[in-house]
Amino acid sequence: MTKRLYIETVGCQMNVLDSEMVVADLRKRGYELARDLAAADVILFNTCSVREQAENKTYSALGRLRSFKKQHPDKVIGVIGCMAQKDQQLVFSRAPYVDLVVGPGQLARIPELLDDIAGGKGPQIAVSLGRKDGPTADIKRSHETFDPLRDPTMRPTPFQAYLRIQIGCDKFCTYCIVPTTRGPEQGRPPEQIIAEARVLADQGCKEITLIGQTVNSYKYSSGGTTTRLSDLLVSLSQIDGIQRLKFVTNYPKDMTDDLLTAVRDLPKCSPYLHVPVQSGSNEILARMKRGYTVEDYREMLDRIRATIPDPAVTSDFIVGFCGETEDDFQKTYDLVAECRFKNSFIFKYSERPGTKDAELYADDVPFEVKNRRNNELLELQNRISEQDSQRFLGERVEVLVEGPSDRARHRGEDAGDIVQLTGRTPCDRIVVFDGNPRLIGEIISVAIYEVSPHTLFGAVVTQEAGQTLLSVG
Ligand code: SAM
Ligand code: SF4
Repeated sequence: MTKRLYIETVGCQMNVLDSEMVVADLRKRGYELARDLAAADVILFNTCSVREQAENKTYSALGRLRSFKKQHPDKVIGVIGCMAQKDQQLVFSRAPYVDLVVGPGQLARIPELLDDIAGGKGPQIAVSLGRKDGPTADIKRSHETFDPLRDPTMRPTPFQAYLRIQIGCDKFCTYCIVPTTRGPEQGRPPEQIIAEARVLADQGCKEITLIGQTVNSYKYSSGGTTTRLSDLLVSLSQIDGIQRLKFVTNYPKDMTDDLLTAVRDLPKCSPYLHVPVQSGSNEILARMKRGYTVEDYREMLDRIRATIPDPAVTSDFIVGFCGETEDDFQKTYDLVAECRFKNSFIFKYSERPGTKDAELYADDVPFEVKNRRNNELLELQNRISEQDSQRFLGERVEVLVEGPSDRARHRGEDAGDIVQLTGRTPCDRIVVFDGNPRLIGEIISVAIYEVSPHTLFGAVVTQEAGQTLLSVG
């Protein structure tokens, strides 16, 4: 009998991709997707541990299922992903009605574990080895994932896909739980990556975003040859059908010239670089153990801007890190004003048990101060983003059309002749315009007539007569 699966995903691109894999794997074994919890036989939460708030949300969602599980004891509830790896048995202690706990490195075992639960073996757990739990090779193997299963129907759009090139992280920034939950850094073999990109191209995928925690540190050595990210980009550029290549997230210290030149010279490579700086204070960067100074970051940014014409550079920041003074924060504020990022993701520091920070420093910046710094930095970044967007007024941009905009979806207007559509430029700017849904999946030209900090508004360029743009949806 067909079983129904409901899956909820929070967190980063890695989790989005992991969910795609899990669904593809279970579909192969006869599962179908359910639209909601009530219709599902198996309910999975793919979780994030990077900030406490993400975990609290998952535990609240589990709490709401307590009585539901009493009424439906046959439904299987599973917690998978980073919080499963970090909390392990604690998940069962906090929510004793959970049946399944699976870390991100063990997702391939889900079908077998579901069979065990159905066979009456009780709650099941599969997690990877801890960073000190044995020989490195064993630890690495226990964190490996199963990427080749691709399911276009599980992606937000079938013509865009994430492709993991690197697992884990070895940087050990003192605030970060990722090296614990995702294990040691390992580059995937280039042959596997290229084969997977071909599968994606055959499925109609036009844009691939390569993902890794420090994607530009990617290296794979075999038979005396080392493949770097720049080499991979050259190989992937040769695949017919793939029209855009992006990669996230970059680590400032590993932004080498060969990579910047590849981005400049390969027409399929988007000039979009997400390179988080995290703080503008050298004291804070040292305590974060980021491995660079503000001066190093500035030098890197200068090289990016000297090599790539009109690059879109974005960053992450943590405000209210342990011991962050007003002076430290001012330095961060000044750096944002100076660097003029396309946009920045700003996070309030969240202490994570198991990290060096939690061991070494006190989480001593009051919540209200974190909040104020967060708002001030966000306000500055929004102003910069809006000013930056102005230069697109009257310009044409190339857009990969993703689908109906949020507004069109909410209004249920995604089936008519002309609807509000959304897509992205090669530099990752969001563009909204009216057009026929048959444009979805196409790369088209859009003339921009209005901008906001994070969105460009325009009209489809359908015909050109001399200097005049005729734009009809
Ligand atoms: N690997 C990427 C890098 O090195 O930038 C990002 C990984 S992390 C999942 C994404 C962002 O979350 C980080 O860049 C950082 O700004 C933020 N982050 C990580 N740990 C955090 C913590 N304990 N509290 C607040 N923000 C955190
Ligand atoms: Fe976390 Fe630092 Fe690794 Fe990024 S580089 S995943 S912030 S430890």
